[in-house]
Amino acid sequence: MNTTIGVLALQGAFLEHETMLRQLGVRPVEVRKPEQLTGLDGLIIPGGESTTMGLVAERWGLVAPLKAWVQSGKPTWGTCAGMILLAERAIGQKAGGQPLIGGLDVTVNRNYFGRQADSFETLLHVPVLGEPPIRAVFIRAPAIVEIGAGVDVLATTAGRAGEEVIVAVQQGNLLATAFHPELTNDLRWHAYFVSQVTHHASSIVPGA
Ligand code: GLN
Repeated sequence: MNTTIGVLALQGAFLEHETMLRQLGVRPVEVRKPEQLTGLDGLIIPGGESTTMGLVAERWGLVAPLKAWVQSGKPTWGTCAGMILLAERAIGQKAGGQPLIGGLDVTVNRNYFGRQADSFETLLHVPVLGEPPIRAVFIRAPAIVEIGAGVDVLATTAGRAGEEVIVAVQQGNLLATAFHPELTNDLRWHAYFVSQVTHHASSIVPGA
């Protein structure tokens, strides 16, 4: 099967995701217009700046199509700013709020790690990815401060006060990571997402 995965290419680190997908033999498609969502098997919303990305998405008429895409149950992965956009609820937003796509039943703190250190790296233990622990790059990163009943925690790390905070979750076909797997050379997160996409695509009966 030819898996096609879209990468929202409005702003931020979309090229790096495309490179990772190509290394896995998947053809990435840059998404800037609603019609470019047609025919995709999965979608990645990259990191960058969620306010800017949300405003550009609004201007280009993408917010409603992206909401419909997520609601339809298509596999979607948000990294960093992309995770913020997928969240149902965000705190620490700019005055007046920002457009969110939503769908992921979590509350994110937009700049949870932002004031502590602009960026840092750490090793995460992620059972779904196996051993060894995986490097994670956090850049002005959000964290998940509350999850709904249908959300599985995939990874946590030490938070501002040394407490464990949630930095990767999955809710059905929605995957969200607070960090930037596309800025490492470990392909395991991308391979995990591609396997979810392939599994979902092969479960759809053509024409049904
Ligand atoms: N905290 C940033 C935001 O609000 C996200 C940073 C990132 O994607 N690296 O968009």
